[in-house]
Amino acid sequence: MVDRSTSKNRHPRSLITGGAGFIGSHLVSFLLEKGHEVICLDNLLTGSLSNFKPLDPKPPFQFIEHDVTNYIDVDGPLDYVLHFASPASPLDYQRFPIQTLKVGALGTHRVLGVAKAKGAVFLLASTSEVYGDPLVHPQHEDYWGNVNPIGPRGVYDEAKRFAEAITTAYHRVHGVDTKIARIFNTYGPRMRLDDGRAVPTFIGQALRDESITVFGDGTQTRSFCYIDDLVEGIWRLLVSDYNEPVNLGNPQELSILELATMVKRQSGSSSSVVHKPLPVDDPKIRRPNIMRATTILGWKPNVDIEEGLKRTISYYQDQLGRHDT
Ligand code: UDP
Repeated sequence: MVDRSTSKNRHPRSLITGGAGFIGSHLVSFLLEKGHEVICLDNLLTGSLSNFKPLDPKPPFQFIEHDVTNYIDVDGPLDYVLHFASPASPLDYQRFPIQTLKVGALGTHRVLGVAKAKGAVFLLASTSEVYGDPLVHPQHEDYWGNVNPIGPRGVYDEAKRFAEAITTAYHRVHGVDTKIARIFNTYGPRMRLDDGRAVPTFIGQALRDESITVFGDGTQTRSFCYIDDLVEGIWRLLVSDYNEPVNLGNPQELSILELATMVKRQSGSSSSVVHKPLPVDDPKIRRPNIMRATTILGWKPNVDIEEGLKRTISYYQDQLGRHDT
């Protein structure tokens, strides 16, 4: 594994789409730390410039407000292209179904075109949602999934499945050096408190002593990966010579009710748990098999859910000015 541009007589240059989003902005910080010049494209549909506050917004960092479903023009060489643009929470992609389909399909095509033209490595942010409501547990990369194409989640799932297909076609037909990260539930600082996902929603509710809204009976499971672990996995995949999809996630599986209880306890909240209807097509179980990432990338997550929640709750306490709670 080598950073391919270190052999050239300049800083590596990376383009990231969706760089103002939760995972994207952490990747921007990480790549800048690695000495990359970073160009970020984002149309700010669900991302936010406030995610860049800690950064100095001058070269080697450049932000361009742009919808990547439209033609992309980037000056100069590029070594890496990371495609992270997309609404990603169920609430967001159901609010923006057509934008979600467009960025996964047309956007991926455009961004692949840039990588091809520049001879850059391309990394697709794919998702555990390609497995849908899985009939195989834990999910390994050779499982083809169980997705309802016309259900409410289909707009995201099928967009990402198309994105994987076109990425693979660009690798086979045009020889682009492509990587596919299948990202499982990830959490940490910079998620929007109102993005509707379980972790920020529960933490926001707990810190405000509001009822914690568990959908269904809460026995459905997820496996939550802390953002720093995920970013390290993305980096290792980016600089690897591996072109097949790789699961990146934390195999520590827990029920949503367990998550709610843990958040309540860790935030010292007096909230009670209330049950709301389970959304249509909500997957019943989800846990990554990370054998491939471990074998090929030497990667495994290091931050367990207790520690990750502690860090995340502390971040939101700062955001809400609630360190007295
Ligand atoms: N969930 C919940 N209450 C909420 C938000 C989510 O019980 O306020 C549940 C949701 O139904 C799902 C799980 O938590 O079973 C994880 O949902 P999330 O939106 O975080 O991500 P998903 O894995 O479904 O994409």
